[in-house]
Amino acid sequence: MAKITRSISAKKTSVPSVPKKPAKKAVEAAPKPAAKKSPKPKPLKPKPWTPAEVYEAFSRFRKANPEPKGELEHLNPYTLLVAVVLSAQATDAGVNKATRALFAVADTPSKMLELGEEKVREYIKTIGLYRNKAKNVIALSEKLIAEFGGEVPRTRAEIETLPGAGRKTANVVLNMAYGEHTMAVDTHVFRVGNRTGLAAGNTPLEVELGLEKVIPSEFMLHAHHWLILHGRYTCLARKPRCEVCLINDLCRWPEKTV
Ligand code: SF4
Repeated sequence: MAKITRSISAKKTSVPSVPKKPAKKAVEAAPKPAAKKSPKPKPLKPKPWTPAEVYEAFSRFRKANPEPKGELEHLNPYTLLVAVVLSAQATDAGVNKATRALFAVADTPSKMLELGEEKVREYIKTIGLYRNKAKNVIALSEKLIAEFGGEVPRTRAEIETLPGAGRKTANVVLNMAYGEHTMAVDTHVFRVGNRTGLAAGNTPLEVELGLEKVIPSEFMLHAHHWLILHGRYTCLARKPRCEVCLINDLCRWPEKTV
């Protein structure tokens, strides 16, 4: 009897037990692991420029064009101010075409007032938004006479109080008329600052402050023009000419073509 018992128990243990299938219901009920979302690739932050690299870039700009000039024609600080106010959303060439004749007859605030809004409008009618701009030219001339002795003031805060003049206008005038180390950020400077990584920013003011921080003082008088000209003729918005760019080895733009 004992023998029989042993043989049955041996047989039982030698048969590999087949794992039971889990109950179907249980499988269905099990919570599915949440699909892992692949994290959005963060745009790589370009390595900031070293002071030596910034110095090198501006040394090259200086060597290539030691005395860069703005392209807005003007005769004195007042006509520069008027030209910059007229240049909003217009090309420098278009503004020059109109102001050559205008400034020949009115190169001071009092002469502009003598001319009157209607005639100013006639002179500048080829420039976009000319009606509003003519109004501003007359109003700012009145204000210059009433509050600033007919002169263009020398501080940004004062220039910004003039009709039609904002921070960019003030920076251009302070830099070009009075030799201040200001950085006017227009569409070209904004693009170049961001693309190159010299001073990335979401607003013109951020780019302006960033550029002022990194550009050595010895370059600041002309930095604004070097960057504008670079953006206008080399670092073009649609098809930057990276192959002829003076700073293509330093530029941080991932899409540069060299
Ligand atoms: S390398 Fe190209 S993108 Fe960079 S600054 Fe020069 S032109 Fe512009």
